[in-house]
Amino acid sequence: MFDNSSFDNHEGVHFFHDAESGLRAVIAVHSTALGPSAGGTRMWDYPDSDAMLTDVLRLSQGMSYKNAMASIPHGGGKAVIWGNSRTDKSEALFRAFGRAVDSLQGRYWTAEDVGIDTADIEIAAQETRYAAGLTTSEAASGDPSPVTALGVFRGIKQCAIRAFGSDDLNGKTVAVQGVGSVGGYTALHLAEAGANLIITDIDQDALADIKAKTGAKVVAPDEIYDAEADIFSPNALGAIINEDTLKRLKVKVIAGGANNQLVVPAMGEFVRRAGILYAPDYVINGGGIINVAAEISGTYSRPWVDQKLDTLMDTLGEVLDQALSTDTPTNYVADEIARARIAAGPAT
Ligand code: NAD
Repeated sequence: MFDNSSFDNHEGVHFFHDAESGLRAVIAVHSTALGPSAGGTRMWDYPDSDAMLTDVLRLSQGMSYKNAMASIPHGGGKAVIWGNSRTDKSEALFRAFGRAVDSLQGRYWTAEDVGIDTADIEIAAQETRYAAGLTTSEAASGDPSPVTALGVFRGIKQCAIRAFGSDDLNGKTVAVQGVGSVGGYTALHLAEAGANLIITDIDQDALADIKAKTGAKVVAPDEIYDAEADIFSPNALGAIINEDTLKRLKVKVIAGGANNQLVVPAMGEFVRRAGILYAPDYVINGGGIINVAAEISGTYSRPWVDQKLDTLMDTLGEVLDQALSTDTPTNYVADEIARARIAAGPAT
């Protein structure tokens, strides 16, 4: 464990097993320096426990950086449950998971991530108060993706100011990969701002819906990288910026909500050398965790969310400006600022 290359000085890594429900879960708390850790739970059928451990460590460190950049009073943590989210779910499993979360006495707050929906978290919440992303509690924040998408749209404008000299997207062409929750709402904002859209998805219903609402041109999933566009907005998968796709992209900006867009952090340097401005994913997509943090605070307030989103956009602007003025990859600048914020501790 301590030799794992993703260990990165985690404060705590907690393993849980429940014989009755078959729960096998890991909760990783990377840092509580800025407050109780917060991050979603992922349910995935990992090939082995090494893969499970590496995933949770990488994700919880990512949440430390994301939460620090979003200026919310939370450190980074994440949970993974080993299993098939289509066949292995049960009430007993999520109750056992809720007890696992509760045993950390508030050092970790959970919410939804890949493979986990609100119904699962509602069950866990019967065993712990440290669960958010609910639909029924007093402070329930509901679906975070509209706030994530608003941040992505505003982040695209931040990039446009630096890449094109104006945040006016009228007449600009944006290639949108994935028009699910985040990508769909982002596409609607872009269309309203007058952008021409080229969209792709593997879900034909989602595609048809957004095409009907925006008049977007539809291309096959693999063709999105070759689109004649000004901006590429990834809102589906991770690791889509790699040696192969970078050669094909004709855009000046990459800005979208998907997590872990760069295949490895060093890819940021190649993106920079290609003359493309990249909005670091965990900065531009922080709107969702801001929405969840509002719920954790106990009284959901939309003005608080909006004010935090304004601050996040200022932070994104600072990252982009510092990167451009020092010829440094934007993701390196973001990592450095995140680490400095964590080291400095909570704002007083
Ligand atoms: P979603 O499942 O609603 O949407 C993802 C879409 O991508 C789906 O429509 C899916 O069909 C499509 N897709 C899958 N494979 C594809 C492919 N090969 N080519 C094109 N499209 C493909 O998920 P979401 O909540 O919109 O999240 C999208 C991304 O944003 C994920 O990486 C997620 O981790 C990240 N993110 C989401 C939020 C949020 O608030 N939901 C917050 C931060 C980050």
